[in-house]
Amino acid sequence: MTQSRFTVAKFGGTSVANFEAMQHSAKIVINNPDTKLVVISACSGVTNLLVELANGITDSSRKNEILSTLRDIHYSIIEHTSNKTALAAEINTLIDDIATLAEQASLSSTAKITDQLVSCGELLSTHIFTQVIADMGHRCQRFDIRPIMRTDNQYGKAVPDVAVLKALALTHLFPLCQEAIVVTQGFIGSDDEGNTTTLGRGGSDYSAALIAEAVNANTLEIWTDVPGIYTTDPRIATRATPIPEISFSEASEMANFGAKILHPSTLIPAIRQHIPVFVGSSKAPQDGGTWVKEEVDSSPLFRALTLRNNQTMVTLQSLNMYHAYGFLAEVFSILAKYRVSVDLITTSEVSVSLTLDTTDTSGKAPNLPAAAHEELSTLCKVTVEQGLSLVAVIGNKMGQTKGSSRKIFNTLEDYNLRMICYGASQHNLCFLVKQDDAHQVIKDLHRDLLEPEY
Ligand code: ADP
Ligand code: ASP
Ligand code: MG
Repeated sequence: MTQSRFTVAKFGGTSVANFEAMQHSAKIVINNPDTKLVVISACSGVTNLLVELANGITDSSRKNEILSTLRDIHYSIIEHTSNKTALAAEINTLIDDIATLAEQASLSSTAKITDQLVSCGELLSTHIFTQVIADMGHRCQRFDIRPIMRTDNQYGKAVPDVAVLKALALTHLFPLCQEAIVVTQGFIGSDDEGNTTTLGRGGSDYSAALIAEAVNANTLEIWTDVPGIYTTDPRIATRATPIPEISFSEASEMANFGAKILHPSTLIPAIRQHIPVFVGSSKAPQDGGTWVKEEVDSSPLFRALTLRNNQTMVTLQSLNMYHAYGFLAEVFSILAKYRVSVDLITTSEVSVSLTLDTTDTSGKAPNLPAAAHEELSTLCKVTVEQGLSLVAVIGNKMGQTKGSSRKIFNTLEDYNLRMICYGASQHNLCFLVKQDDAHQVIKDLHRDLLEPEY
């Protein structure tokens, strides 16, 4: 591959929500001649509507209402573009596919149909965005990523094959980027049988990072609706501020622990390939943003707070655990057998608490499969609780700094904390709280740890 500079730019749903947003985003692309490849999400709100259809709607008036909303969202953009007839034909074909799949889903909703349905959002938006860039006088080409973004067949949370992507990108994608600006889909891929898969909600960030790695890009830009990564979600704490520079390890912890701004896996390819990542606002690129890189100048004790809702906590209690060996091995072999992915874990002499992974397309709290529950119940008492949120304090050397946990727990003395994980990483301390308390917990911690004037 050539050594010239190569930027991959990713635009999220709000950055392609309507014609005006698409124009802002297209300007960012054409203003940087290094940007040869663009990865985009579905127009804002579209994936949620498609998920609703995929869950199986029997009420035909709601189904028709969604179909006409989807048509309106896309038609209202192409109204401003050239080549309307061809674009309208592409949109109609995809809306017809959506209607057929929604019909199937209302008879029997499966993860496979869900992925086919939700992928239509990115397939639609890429048709239109390609035209918006072309209308600004630049050669631009749409590329269907599915044949090269090969994944396994875990629909809703498919795992990409990095080696295959690299090999296929070299032959199929990289050469196109030398001739035109290429626009492709985030979030979607295909399995070995050619069925469409998705990488989990918010997965376009991850797609963009994987593609940046595959084409050997020098920079990955994630353009969104906020000017960078903030000290916490600015929608929750209005006093949150953007972080100009953050290390890969801190930002990875933030992504893993629920900062919606980046999909949890986004930084893995960037770290592997040493690709600096810029996060900025497509509406206000002049406001700057956050650089995520290997080395940064400052490493504060408390850097940021994250929140992840819809947690399912499973507690396993058994007196047989007391001074015994092999109990945890048995538990985990049962969980592995039912492909239950575990997120956090804490243990005491007679009980183990764990939370279940929440990265699939549904956005709901994950359930412990009934068969796994039954088999675990032969070993121990199993309790499942929902309505919980995970809060994480992200920072540096918290375990080595006297007084840091006291500061955190002083703030939290009025809350009921369910599961505290501390020590496994130098960069975070996390715990579960009732979902109803979570926003206030974030506000209180932000005030005490991250607002210097307090
Ligand atoms: P996109 O559609 O561009 O991928 P997302 O909605 O997935 O955008 O992510 C951007 C949103 O992430 C912001 O609007 C903000 O509410 C939320 N967010 C959560 N945590 C943070 C954080 N630490 N910094 C900035 N934004 C955050
Ligand atoms: N459109 C997908 C979603 O809403 C992927 C993404 O936005 O990253 O989850
Ligand atoms: Mg996102």
